[in-house]
Amino acid sequence: MEAPLVPFRQLVLKVHSRCDLACDHCYVYEHQDQSWRSRPMVVSDETVAWTAARLAEHAKSHRLDQIRVVLHGGEPLLAGPDRLRHVARTLRDALSGVCDLDLRIHTNGILLDEAYCRLFADEDIKVGISVDGYQEAHDRHRRYANGRGSYHQVVKAIDLLRTGLYRDLYAGLLCTIDIANDPVAVYEALMALDPPRIDFLLPHATWDNPPPRPPGARTAYAEWLLAIFARWIAAGRPIPIRLFDSVISTTLGGPSGTEAAGLEPSDLVVVETDGTYEQADSLKTAFDGAPATGLDIIHHELDVVARHPAIGARQRGVAGLCATCQACPVVASCGGGLYAHRYRSGTGFDNPSVYCADLMKLIKGIRQELWPAAGPSPQGAAAINPRHRIAIPEDELAELATGFGGSGALAHLQRAQRSLRRALVAAVHEAATGLAANAHTASARDGWHVLTRVDADHPEAVDAVLGYPYVRVWATHCLEGIRDIRPGDASQAGSLSADMGHLSGIAMAAAIRSGLAAQLAVPVRNGFVYLPSLGRFDVTGTDPADMAIVESFRGCGDTFTIAAGDGQWTVSTSRGALNDTPADRRPRWQAVRQLAAHNLSVALEDADAFRDCHHWPAAPRLGDQTASHWESQFTMAWDLIQREHGAYAPALKAGLSAIVPLTANVAGDDVSATARHAFGAVAVALPADHATLALLLIHEFQHVKLGAVMDMFDLFDAADERLFQVAWRDDPRPLEGVLQGTYAHVAVTDFWRVRRHTAEEAEARAAQTQFARWRAATAEATETLADSGSLTPLGQRFVEGMQNSITPWLAEPVSAGVDG
Ligand code: SF4
Ligand code: SF4
Repeated sequence: MEAPLVPFRQLVLKVHSRCDLACDHCYVYEHQDQSWRSRPMVVSDETVAWTAARLAEHAKSHRLDQIRVVLHGGEPLLAGPDRLRHVARTLRDALSGVCDLDLRIHTNGILLDEAYCRLFADEDIKVGISVDGYQEAHDRHRRYANGRGSYHQVVKAIDLLRTGLYRDLYAGLLCTIDIANDPVAVYEALMALDPPRIDFLLPHATWDNPPPRPPGARTAYAEWLLAIFARWIAAGRPIPIRLFDSVISTTLGGPSGTEAAGLEPSDLVVVETDGTYEQADSLKTAFDGAPATGLDIIHHELDVVARHPAIGARQRGVAGLCATCQACPVVASCGGGLYAHRYRSGTGFDNPSVYCADLMKLIKGIRQELWPAAGPSPQGAAAINPRHRIAIPEDELAELATGFGGSGALAHLQRAQRSLRRALVAAVHEAATGLAANAHTASARDGWHVLTRVDADHPEAVDAVLGYPYVRVWATHCLEGIRDIRPGDASQAGSLSADMGHLSGIAMAAAIRSGLAAQLAVPVRNGFVYLPSLGRFDVTGTDPADMAIVESFRGCGDTFTIAAGDGQWTVSTSRGALNDTPADRRPRWQAVRQLAAHNLSVALEDADAFRDCHHWPAAPRLGDQTASHWESQFTMAWDLIQREHGAYAPALKAGLSAIVPLTANVAGDDVSATARHAFGAVAVALPADHATLALLLIHEFQHVKLGAVMDMFDLFDAADERLFQVAWRDDPRPLEGVLQGTYAHVAVTDFWRVRRHTAEEAEARAAQTQFARWRAATAEATETLADSGSLTPLGQRFVEGMQNSITPWLAEPVSAGVDG
């Protein structure tokens, strides 16, 4: 039986076959294949027109939602602005109404100037630039024919992209590795150029022409990359680095996102300036003529190229690899490395990569660093607890230990959370692929596909949605469900897969924020379609089987459409006309409202599907009047915090992203809570006055901070199951509860300590009592913790830090008659 055809989703169009540099590591001119010598210098109008038509035909017949075209060379800018504009317009015209075009150019930057940037902005062409690190590293290879280095010219081009008007065009940097360069210095030099992403490329080599290595240094490339990996992890994975992200993703069962590693089928084809189809450029390193297919754009459809045996050889997953790779423990992440790097005269490509030892060491090194104990389990549950090794500077850790901590400390906690959330969501996707196939697991799979596509170019949009507190709650819920699933329980598996389908709503929320074209079927839950962080759409009373509804809304700056038909609901980033809900119809779209106070905006979250996780019932969707009451109370509370409790304001400002309204207590007590997995959120029943709201926000955010610290570090022996009495609870508490309560009550004590001087007379008297009560209770709880014998060294530092805060307060005078 013929294998299903894998359509092309990426096409490299060679627009110019010569270059204005003469890099000695260039695979186009300096390696085995010399076909450039006989090719036209510039691509012709006819080839461009045929390429556009072939792409449109291919996208239509395979119903592709997007195609990426990379304009390449030689040096593509040598084609000149008029030709590049013509190419862009021809491609866009042909694909208009067929699929989205993701158009890029890959340049050495030498000719990039303001005029080119304007052209690329007009034609929506993203720009990737090759730069090999700091000046000496770059100029080691990337030189003009006269031997002069090109570093300064390239940095000037990057400066144009990274600042101001053209920032959106900046797609990232490509760095070819040379182990003679200092890896960390290369990484720092690239980071100084503020790229949205970095690709590190192993220099092209084969078994016939192996890469340069010092004698005996079998894994020098792995060591070079692992030095950068350690720095990148310590910095909180500040930007995507494709090779590292690929190993992490494939370890957790996700896609590789690069043809340099992993088992995904190749979906890339090259069109040369003469209109011939070629395989990936990297094959130029194998032998003269290696990339050739013998097919061309005029006579052959892309489907014919996709069926070419040489391309098919890279679409067979593990089955397409040599016996050594098939038996390899890291094959899922490595995939035998880049196809070209497997070449050896005699055996062709039926070999492991010439970088085999490096790839093995790199993959094992990354896994060991992130999952030092057992590694992620096949079901992803262990991914809840990988060590997200974000270094927190000593002074910031010390500040957090005292019960305080500013925006710098929060930024480090946020980086760790970002790493954790990405691992959790990847683990949910991996787990979904292990469940029986149905509409929900298909939603999860398609959602993952869109999410990785958005992440490639707009990681900030993915982080904004994954950073939403209830995405982690959802992911943890799914992974705990997988852990607890009873074998053979179909209904449990069914409800779990329905939960996992929520990934498509998460992905569409990210796509809407990024503006990237996407469309996904989304599940209905409790009568709503959910787009986390944006809102929910009420579908009650509507049968998607027999009705077509299209409603468009604006969210986060972009328009999106929710539609019913064919028995399902879909969300798309279509830019249709906005609907005004007719006055006689209930509004279906319930956007997440923002509480906007002076210099702080926080979501008033009464719409998320997973917000009801605070051990106290979440309030239903608020009416407009109640929401506006929330806003005025919140504004006053925030003013009070900034004015009187300024030590807590920077962390709240940096980290508080959502407030969930809770139902009020019938007894009239104040109610507030946090959930360990909802980093950045607090839940509160709106109290009678803004000062109490300020207190509850400060109190609950202490739990948010300490929870995030405990996600990173052990503060006590988790095996200690003893319970301890504390003054603020009738029931005895486990050690974690005592630690959390004490940390929160340091801030509660501090709040009343200040209030006794600033509040009106009656409240000030009450504040004296509260201050005296809570300082005594908190001091006593720190003693309980210190005496437990179960604190880690860092846990002891936290308890000592809290004692350092409380002790001076014990000496402060209170009014006569007030007794703690
Ligand atoms: S800039 Fe690129 S195409 Fe030009 S010589 Fe250097 S590596 Fe080759
Ligand atoms: S590490 Fe080596 S043996 Fe394993 S898959 Fe990669 S190239 Fe093949």
